[in-house]
Amino acid sequence: MTKITRCSRCAASSIVPSISPPAGMHRIYGDKFGPLIPAYRYHRPEDGGHSIVFHCPFCNRLHWHGLPPTDSGLIHPRVSHCFDVKSPLWGAEYRLVVVGDVASPDSVPRYSANDIDSLNLTMREG
Ligand SMILES: [Zn+2]
Repeated sequence: MTKITRCSRCAASSIVPSISPPAGMHRIYGDKFGPLIPAYRYHRPEDGGHSIVFHCPFCNRLHWHGLPPTDSGLIHPRVSHCFDVKSPLWGAEYRLVVVGDVASPDSVPRYSANDIDSLNLTMREG
């Protein structure tokens, strides 16, 4: 998508790219604390430990993070596990918000980029 602008000095029109940040990140990407991402606690039957997991709308994969047994907090800053270079989460940090538990990796709810954006805007305005 492009938009036509006029040069203020010569009044000539020029076409410049209209840069649209990725959906879901247009206001929160670049936040020094990283975006809030809804995530789920998963009890690992194999070793009794816990993980935090969320479905990433940018690369369409589950991202798994450890959850120490002594950590009962709701918000967990983590270095992104998104390795899709086109994802706004690539090379970023995010804050995982534990919003529930899942019994299996197959039952992790999916949030869209816009859902994540709405969450962050709501939390920022609140
Ligand atoms: Zn991802």
